[in-house]
Amino acid sequence: MATIQKYMEIPAARLPIVAEADVVVTGGGTAGYIAAVAAARSGAKTVLIERNGFLGGSATGTYNTNLSSSYDSDGNRIMGGVPWEAIERLAAAGGAYIREIKNGRRTHAEIFPETTKTVALEMVYEAGVDLYLHTWASDCLMENGSVRGIIVQNKSGRQIVLGKTFVDASADADIAYKAGAPFEQLDVDHSYLTTLDLTVCNIDVDKVLRWVKDNADRLETPKMPDNIEDNEGIKSMVEFVVKGPRKTKLPDGSTYRPGRALGVKMLIRRSICRVQGHVEIDGTDVKQLTWAEYEGRRQALEELNYLRENVPGFEDAFVVAQSPLGVRETRRVKGEYWLTLQDLDGNTRHPDVVGLNCRPVDKHMKNDEFSIRMLMGNHDIPLRALIPQNVRNLLVAGRCISSDHDANASLRGGGTCMITGHAAGTAAALASRGNGQVRDVDIALLQRTLLDQGAILSTDPGRRFV
Ligand SMILES: Cc1cc2nc3c(=O)[nH]c(=O)nc-3n(C[C@H](O)[C@H](O)[C@H](O)COP(=O)(O)OP(=O)(O)OC[C@H]3O[C@@H](n4cnc5c(N)ncnc54)[C@H](O)[C@@H]3O)c2cc1C
Repeated sequence: MATIQKYMEIPAARLPIVAEADVVVTGGGTAGYIAAVAAARSGAKTVLIERNGFLGGSATGTYNTNLSSSYDSDGNRIMGGVPWEAIERLAAAGGAYIREIKNGRRTHAEIFPETTKTVALEMVYEAGVDLYLHTWASDCLMENGSVRGIIVQNKSGRQIVLGKTFVDASADADIAYKAGAPFEQLDVDHSYLTTLDLTVCNIDVDKVLRWVKDNADRLETPKMPDNIEDNEGIKSMVEFVVKGPRKTKLPDGSTYRPGRALGVKMLIRRSICRVQGHVEIDGTDVKQLTWAEYEGRRQALEELNYLRENVPGFEDAFVVAQSPLGVRETRRVKGEYWLTLQDLDGNTRHPDVVGLNCRPVDKHMKNDEFSIRMLMGNHDIPLRALIPQNVRNLLVAGRCISSDHDANASLRGGGTCMITGHAAGTAAALASRGNGQVRDVDIALLQRTLLDQGAILSTDPGRRFV
């Protein structure tokens, strides 16, 4: 960040208190809207604060997101409860696809962002959440180590939202940071890339499919639907990567690609796809975010030009939309438990389990270096990984949960963020019934409540909880 050398004092302000809630959730993204619904359904008067004019965050900000964390490697479903309901509702609305694989085993869900926005709004309103869109949480008011309220800024002015228990689902841990919780944030060279997506339409699908079939040697693992004719909407996606530098296997089993390759995800029936630009920035620095909007767009257009010139069917393609910038990694809070790769690989169990994860460890690094490694089985996410140190009444959900850089390459997956959202929202509601403090939540009651709400806390039917 540029060094700031000049400062000004501003007058103390008298701000309107626009809401007083049991639970205040900041960020209505992948984890946040689920957290708000879970809190409200658990009986808490809930406020949800979101800076955008829509919900879903990164899950609606990229053209199609593959929620590769709803099933484990053995085909066991590890997502239930409010997140699963959201996906089922998306599927019913034609906006999600749960792919069947061999022997009755199922794998991840593809979700369609525009439908997600609608379903998320419906669920939030149905649950009775008090929603503030177009509202930026800019600071928090502290009292004796607890968050007392959030200062928000919107078109109506600067306002205060008071609460008893808070959930930070801002992805960047904005509230935890303002509240003074410790966190880790790597420098730009070592953080996962930021991506800008352009949505492109007017593609001649038949020509592209023919080219994909005839040019297997130029592509990395093209994925075609089994039967294009039977597939509709989001199911009919073809994915291919135009080969860049050679892929290799790393000693830990990861597939590694050392540099830029051009990835295409095309919805056949919709004849649209996304093109991407990848930028190395600090996603908490506004000048770098500003530059990424330009540079990401420039790169995405370069990609589109490549497709126009090299892949028949793209000649008349044109850009119809740009998604919000997709930031993969910034602050990760230091919580009461720090999840590491050892936890993930060791299928580690915790007495305070509130969710499961099995998402591949995928790393998008500087210079477009990319590696991906599957996880076997599943591991527990403990409530302690959602509790930032030094703050009494705050939980985090989503990609900023307490985890190291390597583990976060898996935990940042959209499905896992939804699972932590469900857990944090329900835990916050239970905390708010008492003194608001999250460390006083009765774990057995929390687990029973989550299970009653359909959450999946184990794939072992014999497992007993606290
Ligand atoms: C380009 C890209 C592609 C990806 N592809 C996949 C994939 O294929 N599969 C997969 O599983 N995962 C994928 N991921 C990862 C996954 O989508 C994200 O890690 C996950 O969605 C993050 O969820 P979250 O709830 O933590 O944050 P988000 O979904 O980003 O939500 C954060 C929300 O908080 C709001 N917010 C932030 N700050 C404030 C504030 N101060 N005040 C008010 N509101 C605020 C934001 O507007 C946003 O709505 C991808 C990520 C990116 C960036």
